[in-house]
Amino acid sequence: PHELLFYCRPGFEHDLGAEVTDKASLIGWNGSLQAETNSGYVRFILPGKPANALHREIPLDTLVFARQSLVALPPLVGISRDDRISPIVSQVLESGWSFESIWQETPDTNDGKALSGLIKALERSLPSALKKCGALRRKAGKRRLHLFWTNGDSVQLGMSFPGNRSEQPGGILRLRAPREAPSRSTLKLEEAWHVFVPRDAWPTRLSEGMQAADLGAAPGGWTYQLVRKGMYVYAIDNGPMDKALMATGQVEHLREDGFVWEPPNRLDWLVCDIVDKPMRVVEMVERWLLRRWCREAVFNLKLPMKQRWQEVERCLSCLDQQLREARVAAEIRCRHLYHDREEVTVHVRLLA
Ligand code: SAM
Repeated sequence: PHELLFYCRPGFEHDLGAEVTDKASLIGWNGSLQAETNSGYVRFILPGKPANALHREIPLDTLVFARQSLVALPPLVGISRDDRISPIVSQVLESGWSFESIWQETPDTNDGKALSGLIKALERSLPSALKKCGALRRKAGKRRLHLFWTNGDSVQLGMSFPGNRSEQPGGILRLRAPREAPSRSTLKLEEAWHVFVPRDAWPTRLSEGMQAADLGAAPGGWTYQLVRKGMYVYAIDNGPMDKALMATGQVEHLREDGFVWEPPNRLDWLVCDIVDKPMRVVEMVERWLLRRWCREAVFNLKLPMKQRWQEVERCLSCLDQQLREARVAAEIRCRHLYHDREEVTVHVRLLA
């Protein structure tokens, strides 16, 4: 296979394309990009070169705008409605690939959603056809075949590998908003924890009795998540906080400026959802980290501008450089989460 296929939020194809192009070229790979606005995916084509190597060198975890990353075969187009299975089976056989599972997916668009009937129709017949020819087996290195339908007669086949893929269909982590949560943006922090904090570390890193600050907290969607974990929270915002949340006794609401407020002692978590210039937020968080006012931070960078990847890159390199210069060892990750819209979420964890 000579191409990579990435999924993203519709509207972010050019940001993802710019990111992949930059990251690939930094390690000596040049490819051609196919990124149609609002399509919900990006193809990166590497003529004559094995795409598997690049797939490993830019792991999904390190990409900001990609929801899923696959090694892909050329798209099958103009498939007959009478027999969609044969061309798929032939392409799989020709590739020599074999798999343990099959996922049928579509772009996260209205056109994509309209293809659910077609997917359902193939749900049984396709696996059984692939089993018959040995391409779908009990043991195949946990490899998964992705059938990415872009319309009723076009599908692109991709392959994913354990440890370098989203385990969610479409790369989308769906979460249900808790009924008592003061705002829907509560899901952004919850998703951030799912993505950035391994499940087995939750008991030690998100635990009862910890102390946190939430800058730009009102009405309290993020504070709600912290409180639910049993933490004590300084909620910094001029706006009003949810009454039920205040009644827990775990929240101290301070009507102060989040950019200048200093915690009375070292805290465990800093979270920040203030709408402001990304660089201004980054500089504020830098100050917190350099002074070790918190051990971990989750904050959003709002991206109303056109060149979103360039802006994110500028902010992340600045943060990385400042921490390095101060010899503060930290792990920095950044993702465009499913519940993020015109923004990305950054997670920083101090290591020493
Ligand atoms: N995360 C919150 C939730 O889940 O309910 C929503 C936060 S909302 C997007 C942004 C908040 O930042 C607003 O309530 C606004 O009042 C607050 N804000 C803006 N500038 C601020 C500042 N300099 N200091 C503190 N809060 C600020």
